[in-house]
Amino acid sequence: MSEERVPGFSTLAIHAGAQPDPTTGARATPIYQTTSYVFDDVDHAAALFGLQTFGNIYTRIGNPTCAVLEERVAALEGGTAALAVASGHAAQLIILHTLLEPGDEFIAARQLYGGSINQFNHSFKKFGWNVVWADVDDISSFENAVTPKTKAIFIESIANPGGIVTDMEAIAKVARRAGVPLIVDNTLATPYLCKPIEHGADIVVHSLTKFIGGHGNSIGGIIVDGGTFNWSREGRYPTLSEPCESYQGMVLHETFGNFAFAIACRVLGLRDLGPAMSPFNAFLILTGCETLPLRMQTHSDNALAVAEYLSDHPKVSWVSYAGLPGDRHHTLAKRYTPKGAGAVLTFGVRGGYDAGVKLVSSVELFSHLANLGDTRSLIIHPASTTHRQLADAQKTSAGAGPDVVRLSVGIEDKDDIIADLDQALDKID
Ligand SMILES: *Cc1c(COP(=O)(O)O)cnc(C)c1O
Repeated sequence: MSEERVPGFSTLAIHAGAQPDPTTGARATPIYQTTSYVFDDVDHAAALFGLQTFGNIYTRIGNPTCAVLEERVAALEGGTAALAVASGHAAQLIILHTLLEPGDEFIAARQLYGGSINQFNHSFKKFGWNVVWADVDDISSFENAVTPKTKAIFIESIANPGGIVTDMEAIAKVARRAGVPLIVDNTLATPYLCKPIEHGADIVVHSLTKFIGGHGNSIGGIIVDGGTFNWSREGRYPTLSEPCESYQGMVLHETFGNFAFAIACRVLGLRDLGPAMSPFNAFLILTGCETLPLRMQTHSDNALAVAEYLSDHPKVSWVSYAGLPGDRHHTLAKRYTPKGAGAVLTFGVRGGYDAGVKLVSSVELFSHLANLGDTRSLIIHPASTTHRQLADAQKTSAGAGPDVVRLSVGIEDKDDIIADLDQALDKID
């Protein structure tokens, strides 16, 4: 390829970060299943530990298989650098650990993955990181939540579980005015459908467990540094803008510029908290990533067909899928996810809680489980499973009321997917 040519998304999904193995010629990225790496000599070791040179030390901090995945996802998202970690939740932990001090606040959308709501409401409070909830359907609720202690805003691009598309540019403006970074969880959209950095995000986070891995075989997470935020402007992010005791007083933002956030997450957050990704999982997720564009298009096309089918079904009271013309988020979907609104949708079954339980017990092709983003079609009744721990009011505000059923539509033949729902809906009295 000539130098000026910018590779397209599908090319990057296969090639970014990877090259034939320099020692063996292996074309697929090898699994570097090693804990540690031999230093060239004492000076090399000293330079590695002092961050004067990049290289491998110990797999908790970095691994060559994981590094290919990091470069690939950074390229797909249009970021400057990335850090792969053990899970999506580990990624969220490391991001906030880098940005917040005890007593600080962050604003988060109410419309989030149920696990994130738990993590923010309970575990993060123990660190003194206080979540303030806002509503993506009311941008002024973000504006009103800003205080001098606010250090970040956290939203999802397509929100789980309602298939809601968030007005990222409006929320990015609130973040700019508050002088804080916008963090976007892009798990449900993937960079194939939407690139949050182009819409004002400073940091993108993924559960790789879902569509990027895509095959339901590995847990993983990744943090992408957009390279867009000025960490030193007001000295509000001391981890980045103050001399770092663990690295002889080095100031990370000064030294690493527009990828300082990714470096800080690695050399402090991952080093000290420890949730490293296994190289084997990185290998499986890289393999999945190669077909991301093909899968996401099919997921979205199938989900739209399923949403249309459900909209006409007498036992279905409502369907929430931003891809449907007439959906309240359709205008936002056309702007932010023009190729399709993703795989995930929710709908209400007439008959409430019991009908929801009957439906998930009657499907045959669909798997009843707590995941999404598998090649297979998945179904869950959040009120009896993922959102069980939440209070009733929280369930409803998170889009998980008693009649709600969530689908992650797979890439099987769409006629088979619809036929399975049809026979299962028939079994509800
Ligand atoms: C699954 C998920 C997470 C958490 O990721 P894990 O890999 O399960 O830790 C976070 N956000 C969203 C939107 C998710 O779907």
